Amino acid sequence: MIASKHIQNYFENMNKSTRQLSKLSNEAKKTGVDPQLESDIPIAASVAERVEAIMGSISPNIIGKGIPDRITELEKEYGFGDWRVALKLAEEISLERFCKFEDKISAINIGIRTGFAYITQGTVSAPLEGLIDIKLKNRKDGKKYLSMYFAGPIRGGGATASAVTVVITDYIRKVHNIEKYDPTDEEIKRFYTEVTDYYDRVERKQYKPTEEEMKFIISNLSVELNGDPTSRLTVSNFKGLDRVETDRIRGGMALLLTDCIPLKGAKVWKKLKEWGSDFNLEDWKWIEEFIELKKKIHSGQEIKSNTTKLRPNYSYISEIVAGRPIFTHPLKKGGFRLRYGRSRLTGHGSWAISPITMQICKDYLAIGTQLRVERPGKSTSLTSCDSIEGPIVKLKSGEVIKPKSEEEAKLISPDIEEILFLGDILISHGEFLENNHFLVPPGFCPEWWFNILKSKINNKNQFISENKLHESFFDTFLPPKISRELSIELSEKYKIPLHPELTFYWGELSKNQLITLAKYLYKGSTEPSLKRILELIGAEHKLINNKIEISPITLSNLKLNLSEEIINSNLNESETTLEFLNKHSKYIVEDLWGTAIGARMGRPEKAKMRDLKGSPNFLFPVGIEGGRMNNFIDVIKKGFVISDFPIINCEDCKQQTIYRKCEHCGSYNTKQRYIDPKTKIKYDEPPKDLRVRAFERRKYEISKLYKKTIENWNDEIPSLIKGVKNTKNKYRYAEHPLKGILRSKFSLRVNKDGTVRYDGTELGITHFKPKEIGLTVSKVKKLGYSFDWKGNEITSDEQLIEIFPQDIIIPDSDILGSEAASKVLQRVANFVDEELTRLYNKPAYYNVATKDDLIGQMVIGLAPHTSAGIAGRIIGFSKISALLAHPYWHAAQRRDLDGEETSIMLMLDAFLNFSRDFLPDQRGSRSMD
Ligand SMILES: [Zn+2]
Repeated sequence: MIASKHIQNYFENMNKSTRQLSKLSNEAKKTGVDPQLESDIPIAASVAERVEAIMGSISPNIIGKGIPDRITELEKEYGFGDWRVALKLAEEISLERFCKFEDKISAINIGIRTGFAYITQGTVSAPLEGLIDIKLKNRKDGKKYLSMYFAGPIRGGGATASAVTVVITDYIRKVHNIEKYDPTDEEIKRFYTEVTDYYDRVERKQYKPTEEEMKFIISNLSVELNGDPTSRLTVSNFKGLDRVETDRIRGGMALLLTDCIPLKGAKVWKKLKEWGSDFNLEDWKWIEEFIELKKKIHSGQEIKSNTTKLRPNYSYISEIVAGRPIFTHPLKKGGFRLRYGRSRLTGHGSWAISPITMQICKDYLAIGTQLRVERPGKSTSLTSCDSIEGPIVKLKSGEVIKPKSEEEAKLISPDIEEILFLGDILISHGEFLENNHFLVPPGFCPEWWFNILKSKINNKNQFISENKLHESFFDTFLPPKISRELSIELSEKYKIPLHPELTFYWGELSKNQLITLAKYLYKGSTEPSLKRILELIGAEHKLINNKIEISPITLSNLKLNLSEEIINSNLNESETTLEFLNKHSKYIVEDLWGTAIGARMGRPEKAKMRDLKGSPNFLFPVGIEGGRMNNFIDVIKKGFVISDFPIINCEDCKQQTIYRKCEHCGSYNTKQRYIDPKTKIKYDEPPKDLRVRAFERRKYEISKLYKKTIENWNDEIPSLIKGVKNTKNKYRYAEHPLKGILRSKFSLRVNKDGTVRYDGTELGITHFKPKEIGLTVSKVKKLGYSFDWKGNEITSDEQLIEIFPQDIIIPDSDILGSEAASKVLQRVANFVDEELTRLYNKPAYYNVATKDDLIGQMVIGLAPHTSAGIAGRIIGFSKISALLAHPYWHAAQRRDLDGEETSIMLMLDAFLNFSRDFLPDQRGSRSMD
């Protein structure tokens, strides 16, 4: 790995801590209280290892056969993340170069899905749950073709990667000399009908192909796109076809034919054009023809989307949700004003507004709030930035004011009658690039003014000494504060525009309104419309005894912009207000407005412990005996519970048990058995061709287990310990009752996989000051930080430091109360410690007494619909209700920072308590999220 020494040390330490915790939990789990005898979370230090781990979970035979090494080799040849790595990998696995498979199609199946896992970096569960099978089916001439089975979670794979997977399948087909799919006319019509039904009745996608396009795609694809039904709805026509297994709508397949192949085909072909012939893939050239066809059919829309003229975009409003306010309409001046730039909290999808704007919008806008926006992109998560423009408001008294601080804004906010200007919204230009949106003009701003000035100055040192400025005057991005007089002088001398602080939102007025204002300024004549004119341009004033009062400075600024001669000048139809004003002004006046960005509230910021329905403390079935509250204590009082339990027999004491380690005699010599639910016959091994279950519904006497559980307890037993009505996993495994007692004691709720999750909005941070996150100089150094962002040794807690890529800052706000991450994770640490000592016979590990003890502890971050957790390290606390970390940490979870959420677990809690076997036995829930 190429990285500087201190980053390499950092990664080494992260790796070491992770492996140490994994080892500790493996030893603890030997006691046998869980479904597995060791931790169910494999550790991967690279994408290559992740690919092996994720595919190993469905095909254990590939583990340890050299796949990660081979990936590394291929990466050296083709480059990291290159699709050719996936193609070669799929080929070699399908040819059984690493290990044998049951049959050829199994090898092909795992090969293709491993290729898919590689191009999604081994992070998402789509290769397991989105592409669920590859089968050989019969052509009309009796030969075989390949059929790909997609399911709903394919959406987590991403449109491009999913499209590439079809290319991989075609390649493997050629390697194995398998014939092409031979669709009949009826089957093609079925595809069109089903995709149209999906689009119209299930979910509107970005693209809706016509029948002609569909026919073209299907006849050119050499494999069949197939899948599981994802909807209760059946297709409206072409039911009962021989080779189509279901009449219901297959959402995964529909996704491939709307958002994936039609929309990403061009991107795929661009690469294949370069090297496709090396892989016998040049016949994908049909995509070029398809793009032509698409253009011809959708030409009307194409022209519209190619235009660079700025038009209002209403789509963010059209999907409005009740209770989510609209802040500004599309392109509506007075709303958020575009400002280009980035702060240490923005980027990767996240933007910023002034903290003063947040204050006047009361509870509706906070750090972490998701906005649905007009452009570029669809949404963002908000942070704050205090060096951009705040709002201008009108009070009930008629006064127009630009609050200078959050305190002032708070003070006046009950008296606000109208928000005249919401303030700036800070967006980095990369957001436009990323979203394929042309750059739009920003309003005139100080940094722009400063750049104009810089371009006019030949001798900077001379300029500095002439004007008695600080020697670092030109070193900053934003201009240092200078006096109003100097600013005016510079505009005059160098012919540069007036500084934005001296100008107004002139574009809001008509030319006649300009004249009305000039008459007031120079002749003292007032008109009823004058007040509104001042409001529209954002000029501060008061209303005293119904008379407008403007401060001498504002008055003088107005006169700088607006000359007296304008009063008697001729109006020219073709001139804009600003052109008209400039023609008669001594100074250059720039447009302050630029572009307004429409926005409405998406969802509020989030930071809380995850709650399953019914808020269970542990995964144990309490049936109807648990009563309305699903209380385990009620089951204890009754002495039994009737529910589904695994069929396990103890070979030693010959009794039936519910755990793999016999709860009666403590033996691990137990045997899982199976039952045919129809005949009730039990089997030692699941017979082939018979659908059997690993569990049965029975009455379970709980007293003995409970007595054993609380043998050494000596504490008060909580009166409410919530279980689940039924467990839903494949074996109906249940957690040990002690876990329930302990989680109840520490007010913790369990997630469906046995862990405690903390959910939070994702926010990025690239730099921090130790003081801001509760660190001292010595603590920050202990965490491995030595230098600030300029390379100076850290000696003060006010120095700005670049954050390490896997370090995170967790919520610790009073508003969150006991739900603050700092409090929840403390309780999790206490829970794990008691679990270690009472259940696993190990010494306590965390020994956390205060929140500061959490600093340096490892967590696992896991975003929804992904299956690879990313290790993280807690380094501090914030008052923000969101999980703050380096954008890389979020990116590793395949997330942007546009208002989505992720979750964290304390690492040892995950290693000890997570089990895949607790997860409900249904597609889409077999991954960790
Ligand atoms: Zn036994």
